[in-house]
Amino acid sequence: MPQITLPDKSIREFDQPITVDEVAKDIGSGLAKATVAGKVNGNLVDASDLISEDCNLEIVTINDPEGLEIVRHSCAHLFAHALKQIHPTAQMAIGPVIKDGFYYDIKLDKSLSDDDLVEIEKRMKQLAKTKYDVVKEVVTKEKAVNTFEERNEPFKVTLAQEIPEEEIIALYHHEEYIDMCRGPHVTNMRHLKAFKLMRISGAYWKGNSKNEMLQRIYGTAWPNSKDLEDYLTQQEEAEKRDHRKLGRQLDLFHFQEEAPGMVFWHPKGWAIYSALKDFIKTKQDEYDYQEINTPQIVDRKLWEASGHWDKYRENMFITEIDEDHANEKRTNALKPMNCPCHVQVFNQGLRSYRDLPLRLSEFGSCHRYEASGTLHGLMRVRGFTQDDGHIFCTEDQIQDETRQFIELLSDIYSTLGFDNFEIKLSTRPEVRAGSEEVWDKAELALENAIKNLNLPYEIVEGDGAFYGPKLDFVLIDALGRDWQCGTFQADFILPERLDAKFVGSDSERYNPVMIHRAVLGSFERFIGVLIEHYGGALPAWLSPIQAEILNITDKQADYCQNLANLLKKSGIRAHSDLRNEKITYKIRDHSLQKTPFLLIAGNREMENNTISVRARGGEDLGEMSIDDFIHMLQQTVQEKK
Ligand code: ZN
Repeated sequence: MPQITLPDKSIREFDQPITVDEVAKDIGSGLAKATVAGKVNGNLVDASDLISEDCNLEIVTINDPEGLEIVRHSCAHLFAHALKQIHPTAQMAIGPVIKDGFYYDIKLDKSLSDDDLVEIEKRMKQLAKTKYDVVKEVVTKEKAVNTFEERNEPFKVTLAQEIPEEEIIALYHHEEYIDMCRGPHVTNMRHLKAFKLMRISGAYWKGNSKNEMLQRIYGTAWPNSKDLEDYLTQQEEAEKRDHRKLGRQLDLFHFQEEAPGMVFWHPKGWAIYSALKDFIKTKQDEYDYQEINTPQIVDRKLWEASGHWDKYRENMFITEIDEDHANEKRTNALKPMNCPCHVQVFNQGLRSYRDLPLRLSEFGSCHRYEASGTLHGLMRVRGFTQDDGHIFCTEDQIQDETRQFIELLSDIYSTLGFDNFEIKLSTRPEVRAGSEEVWDKAELALENAIKNLNLPYEIVEGDGAFYGPKLDFVLIDALGRDWQCGTFQADFILPERLDAKFVGSDSERYNPVMIHRAVLGSFERFIGVLIEHYGGALPAWLSPIQAEILNITDKQADYCQNLANLLKKSGIRAHSDLRNEKITYKIRDHSLQKTPFLLIAGNREMENNTISVRARGGEDLGEMSIDDFIHMLQQTVQEKK
């Protein structure tokens, strides 16, 4: 008879098989109410599953991350239940859990509208309120197939047919509606209290564009209504800050069909890009990097040697060129990364141990083919520029290089307004190159460097690249969202493949370790993150236009024009707006453009040879001489406020 050990090591004995729900009830009624599933010897099970053998049991509630996932998954079923009541001909495909919620792909002859979502959501609430039990039924594959054939659910039939023989198939009965999945699920709908249907999009069956297009309905679900409200408020704020929307509004960049996933930067967007690039360059100079530049189009031979042709070709843009006289075709690829090119620079001339560590950096323009459905503004593009760098060093130098890199990265992140970041250390994966000894040494070097800096970190076991361990740096933005940007990866393989060598102090030749590293990742994506973090109101040093000069009447037009020239000569990104519009209109317009300083000139200012300064947000800084303004702005920019 089962003896059940709970997380606090207490043991409960039962004289017959018992469900997780019943064990929870035995512990206390409060816990019983909150139970959504169980974890038997570490494996999730339904709360209705019978336990017949001795085991360790954890009760999972909605407040556990796994419990919340179960609730979200159950909510997808509830959606299906409600949808089928309103639209009985709907055919259900898949309904997985995603970050913050779930989606369901469906086939329906009618295109669902926002009004339909409101109606379905209302039905979901009515159904959840009845607190019906969800009944789990373990069936054979044949029974599952038959069930869905009878119910005219062709997608489910296909899914059932694809399940491997040895796997257990569970059907979940939601009153008259039946769904199939791995589970677990809540045993009663009372757990579903705080959910909302969010939006509709299209999706191909099984993500394959050769298949038919289905409708995808997204929903969100939370433990309680306060969490749901908080989430919705955050979503609203995120929408306001959406970099694609702000990119249009602030006239920063655009995309068009002729070059999917590649950015057309407008003057103002490019000003941000350039300011950021100058900043990174200055910082990297301080940290002893040497900037280089390598070709964008490179013969396939190099990609074959580096291994990319074999492993990465699907993501590479290939070009063919007829060489004029030789009558030969050369196959090239646009570089998807800079690493092999950097090794070529390292390989010029004989390197000695005295040259190491050698830090090469490149603002490297790269291209990678990404499926068009995954492209997303600046956040996911096909053409991008990395703030790339490679450090060639010895194994003994890895630890120092790690520390130095983290210092550089913290310096850059905090200047950019991100004081919080998380570090993830990914260790050796199952399939890997290199000896155990080298892995031991490198993992320890990375870990020691972080420890010595007193920074918190998380170890992700087995997630390293096959060529070496890595660190990932994850930023937290103003809305509390994570952005993985920086990376630092030790590589024991590429130098060997591409025959990079240095002469050691014993006159023998060795392969250096190569460290791939980036702070921002790509300029494109990072600028997207910056725009959303600041809601478009970038600090003055990054703002595309730092000062806009506004005349009150035509009389001051020349005066304003001269001031603008003066500011530009001082290295300030200034612009004058001499439109024949009311000053209040112009102020409003440039406030919407989020310009840090508005300089206003009327007759009085012109006579006094001054300007009246208004800071972003409306603060009146009073009348001052143009020299004083230049001084103040330069100070601000210097301090990078
Ligand atoms: Zn690299």
